[in-house]
Amino acid sequence: MKLYQEQELKIYNSLTNQKEVFKPINEGHVGMYVCGPTVYSNVHLGNVRTFMSFDMIFRYLKHLGYKVRYVRNITDVGHLVDDAEEGEDKIAKKARLEQLEPMEIVQKYTLDFHDILQKFNFIPPSIEPTATGHIIEQIEIVKGIIDNGYGYEVNGSVYFDVHKFNEKNEYGVLSKRNLEDLVNNSRELDGQSDKKNPQDFALWKKAEETHIMRWPSPWGEGFPGWHLECTAMSTKYLGKRFDIHGGGMDLKFPHHESEIAQNEACCGTSPVNYWMHANMLTLNGKKMSKSTDNNILPGEIFSGSSKHLSKGFVPSVARFFMMQAHYRSILDFSNDALLASEKGFNKLMEAMKTLDKLEPSGDKTSFNLEVWKRNCYNALNDDFNTPILIADLFEAVKYINQLKDGKATILPESLAELKKYMHAFVFEILGLEQQSGSSDDGDSLTGVMELLINLRNEARANKDFATSDKIRDELSALGIQLKDGKDGTSFSVS
Ligand code: AMP
Ligand code: ZN
Repeated sequence: MKLYQEQELKIYNSLTNQKEVFKPINEGHVGMYVCGPTVYSNVHLGNVRTFMSFDMIFRYLKHLGYKVRYVRNITDVGHLVDDAEEGEDKIAKKARLEQLEPMEIVQKYTLDFHDILQKFNFIPPSIEPTATGHIIEQIEIVKGIIDNGYGYEVNGSVYFDVHKFNEKNEYGVLSKRNLEDLVNNSRELDGQSDKKNPQDFALWKKAEETHIMRWPSPWGEGFPGWHLECTAMSTKYLGKRFDIHGGGMDLKFPHHESEIAQNEACCGTSPVNYWMHANMLTLNGKKMSKSTDNNILPGEIFSGSSKHLSKGFVPSVARFFMMQAHYRSILDFSNDALLASEKGFNKLMEAMKTLDKLEPSGDKTSFNLEVWKRNCYNALNDDFNTPILIADLFEAVKYINQLKDGKATILPESLAELKKYMHAFVFEILGLEQQSGSSDDGDSLTGVMELLINLRNEARANKDFATSDKIRDELSALGIQLKDGKDGTSFSVS
């Protein structure tokens, strides 16, 4: 049985601002492009949230039986520090600060990105192309845009002519901005810019003498504009028009808006049928971001070595925490929220262990499996509503615990079915894993640590510093760090 034929999948399309029934261009196949990281620093948990939303979407589409080609790029050139496109390249800047080659920066942070995603149990995309690996394709697109009259060259740089484009097309369709408003809100050009209008954006930038990342082009040595890479790589691997394009909400404008304009200008079609945008992870109510200190790194979650945390958490707890929110809702990060998620996660994992050991019982199944299953699929088919799915999973958890206590019954075929679907939803689609330190082990470790911390406090109160230091040092040798704060002592496991 193909479930996607029985119940329709609806996706919220940011282009139309409504939920639409998903119909792929080629039946049974899905082409999906997601903007990847700019690899100039460690990915923070906010970045992970966006990529995790699309990992879950990729997993569900595959589960439904689609053959998915999932392209997620690596941005290793062209993303400038300043939105007005006059600043330094983010990667080149980091290379200068760390006294490394730009490609050493790219390698270092790409490895970090892969390592972190693996810890969170991501499925790798089908293709992971890099911007620097597609300079030729980007130059070809610039040529096409110039040939069609929408690009102009000035002093070795090429710009997209937004006003010309807007004569026959609509610039701002995705972000719901119109050109008039953009003009009113733009700063005047400062006389140093080569652009005709402030709204124009760079397709190709001339490399000044000191600029290290440079390639030959018909317009002299330079480097591609940031928006261009995604047009080049998506058309190359998915075609001029494909099914799904995703990214964080903050990429809608100018990045995705410019992708639409470039694609229309060079290929004569809007690139994407369903635009999907994941909402932000916030910390203290503000967006987590690489360029400010307002972020938390995944490594800090695992070790607990952050001022925002009282202890460490295994990756699946953080994954569960993110899956408890809908991908289009803002999610605020806090220690308390993670602690609550850990409780829920442990309960779910315990139930999965119990389920694996359960035997059939009684002469009927005292749970409406069909309705439960339909509810779970309805949740996912309603724009990937994982919080509702998780609420449904806890209905099954209640039943599993009743079965364990002999308070409910289940026939053999129902038990096989329950196991099959619980495994599919929990492990295959939500991507959770049974992780050590997350269940009984975690509880007993916490208990033992409380005991040791109390003993150490008593020793310190008695001025027995030899004993208190011994406890701290020997724990440290075992990879457990104690941290004294104003709210008492906490520990983290490295
Ligand atoms: P970047 O490496 O800055 O190009 O960002 C990589 C991805 O992370 C993009 O899709 C961003 O939209 C997304 N992103 C950045 N900050 C956050 C955040 N605080 N919460 C969720 N996603 C974010
Ligand atoms: Zn992109």
